[in-house]
Amino acid sequence: MPGTGFTTGKISTIGSCGKNEISGNRKKRERKNQNRTSEAGIRSGQPNVPGRLVVCVPGIASSRPVRNFCVASENAAIFIRLMFIGHFAVALAAKRVAPQTSLGTLFAAAQLPDVIWPLLVLSGVEKVEIHPGDTAFTPLNFISYPWSHSLLMVTLTGTVAGLLYAAKAKYPTGGFVVTLLAVSHWLLDWISHRPDLPLYPGASPLLGLGLWNSIPSTMLIEGSMFLVGIGLYASFTQSKDRIGRYAFWSLMIFLAAIYSADRFSPPPSSAEAIGWVGVVGTGILLAWAEWVDRHRGISLTA
Ligand SMILES: [Zn+2]
Repeated sequence: MPGTGFTTGKISTIGSCGKNEISGNRKKRERKNQNRTSEAGIRSGQPNVPGRLVVCVPGIASSRPVRNFCVASENAAIFIRLMFIGHFAVALAAKRVAPQTSLGTLFAAAQLPDVIWPLLVLSGVEKVEIHPGDTAFTPLNFISYPWSHSLLMVTLTGTVAGLLYAAKAKYPTGGFVVTLLAVSHWLLDWISHRPDLPLYPGASPLLGLGLWNSIPSTMLIEGSMFLVGIGLYASFTQSKDRIGRYAFWSLMIFLAAIYSADRFSPPPSSAEAIGWVGVVGTGILLAWAEWVDRHRGISLTA
């Protein structure tokens, strides 16, 4: 696995020659990790986790503020790993097609499968594992997620969400865009994931083009999409007040910053942590986008 220094569990199925290779790799990996062990880790007698802040090493994080900081930073690191910014780019651009639909709703629609997914992970219906090196871009190994992420279910949930929104907002165009955004989520995931996306629940073939196998290509494509999305939304809307300006740009900078910080964050500690952080983090982002949109109107020059 390029550049990770980790061995994935999948390799463990190969023959005895492979096993020797694995134990060789493991020894190399252990040596590497030992080298990375911080001074603090040595002092505390606790092994350090690569990428973990020195103050967060068990035994060092003794005071309450430091512990709180460590919990917050580890949760932020998990959220960073869940951030796939291409979905937000499409939602920003969609404002031009459905001007009456708020940015919060557009974000929720483009993220619909990822809004449902952490809830299903927490309830044990869908499974994710942490596998550093699963793809170069993310350590998440999506073992099973047919209800939130199969093409059939994404189309169904997207259609239901679109119909509900159209009925509530009395805005069919908005409803249609909500459905299209949900389906766009599957298409973007199909481009980025390795072949792990089902077409339908059950014995479905698994699809994925594997853009995430290349960090530079992923960041280039998703980063360009995000910039175009920001340009389209910012030129189509204008701030009604200072909140409209500052809340919007701080949200964009926040998204870009945590996306870029991905390279420096440690992998999440557990699937349960991913679920909780996914639920809370997504809730905060959607509320932030909704707040932004209330303080922006359609540009007079648009
Ligand atoms: Zn997804």
